[in-house]
Amino acid sequence: MDTKIYKISSPDDKSIEEVACLLKDGKLVAIPTETVYGLAANALDGETVKKIFKAKGRPSDNPLIVHISDFSQWKPLVKEIPEKAKRLTEKFWPGPLTIILPKSDVIPSEVSGGLSTVAVRMPSDEIARAIIKAAGVPLAAPSANLSGKPSPTSSKHVIDDMEGKIDAIVDAGECSVGVESTVISLAVNPPRLLRPGGITPEMLTSVLGEIEIDDAVFNKLAENAEAASPGMKYKHYSPDAKVVIIKGDFSEYKSFVEKEAKEKDVALCFEEDKGKLPFIKCVTYGKEKDSFSQAARIFDALREIDEIRAETAFARFPEMTGMGLAVFNRLIRAAGFNIVEV
Ligand code: AMP
Ligand code: MG
Repeated sequence: MDTKIYKISSPDDKSIEEVACLLKDGKLVAIPTETVYGLAANALDGETVKKIFKAKGRPSDNPLIVHISDFSQWKPLVKEIPEKAKRLTEKFWPGPLTIILPKSDVIPSEVSGGLSTVAVRMPSDEIARAIIKAAGVPLAAPSANLSGKPSPTSSKHVIDDMEGKIDAIVDAGECSVGVESTVISLAVNPPRLLRPGGITPEMLTSVLGEIEIDDAVFNKLAENAEAASPGMKYKHYSPDAKVVIIKGDFSEYKSFVEKEAKEKDVALCFEEDKGKLPFIKCVTYGKEKDSFSQAARIFDALREIDEIRAETAFARFPEMTGMGLAVFNRLIRAAGFNIVEV
């Protein structure tokens, strides 16, 4: 299949109509959002949505997030919109927050992965919202990577994974947040954080009061456990290289890596560390005390590790508070939960 590339830098770009026509026509288009690039299709058409799973190689029980451009598009998708949901959206929409509620009948089971709930988000990226608006339908859009690989935060990442497999790619440069949206379920009480992201636990509790954080945010699910968020049970964000997270301060990290690293290994470290590790190639993921910069870099860094054909990447341990929780959550999955305490 020929994949058409549209370079779009403004929500007023004339090509947006053309992209919207493809989507109305049942085609798959990768679109930019502020979190990561999404692989979009008409969320109300189950047959079209099946093509997303095929292009990504995604297991069919892993549900998709539905993207809307306007509050009025939400109501028909869910059974009802409770007070808590209204309060969250007043504060955080448009933005990197996905809300799960019991679904209505217009959501095909392909989108919900057979569950009785649906995940919905309104992105803050203006090009994304212009595309959804022009398409005139909500768009189901998981991350536009091959299943299991790091999520795409630039059009290059999408082209590497999806060229020839989908109808079009909208190239709008790099994503600003860099990790996927925060996912919270309001289908349970108290509300449950299923995936950390740009909207931090502290921001959620400021609006909701008590929330629970799902165990799968921190830990590997047991073999036979049922996942509240099916995506959490699958291999995720994995480069081909082995990733090991080293828990310790910089000098402990340095001694460990100096002793253990072989010729083809790399340090997945912070920008400040770069000049202090002369014995190993460094791939950096942001600044030590700035988890927003780490989030913006983590997926690109994981892809870079494979581009230089590293065998093992020794990663520095990120702080786990605020946005850092989202960074930690992606990194431990990339590492297959392999943490060494030094
Ligand atoms: P992605 O589209 O790659 O960002 O992945 C979407 C994430 O949201 C996956 O981890 C899904 O398991 C999760 N998700 C989507 N819909 C639901 C739902 N109805 N219930 C629980 N988790 C969901
Ligand atoms: Mg994904």
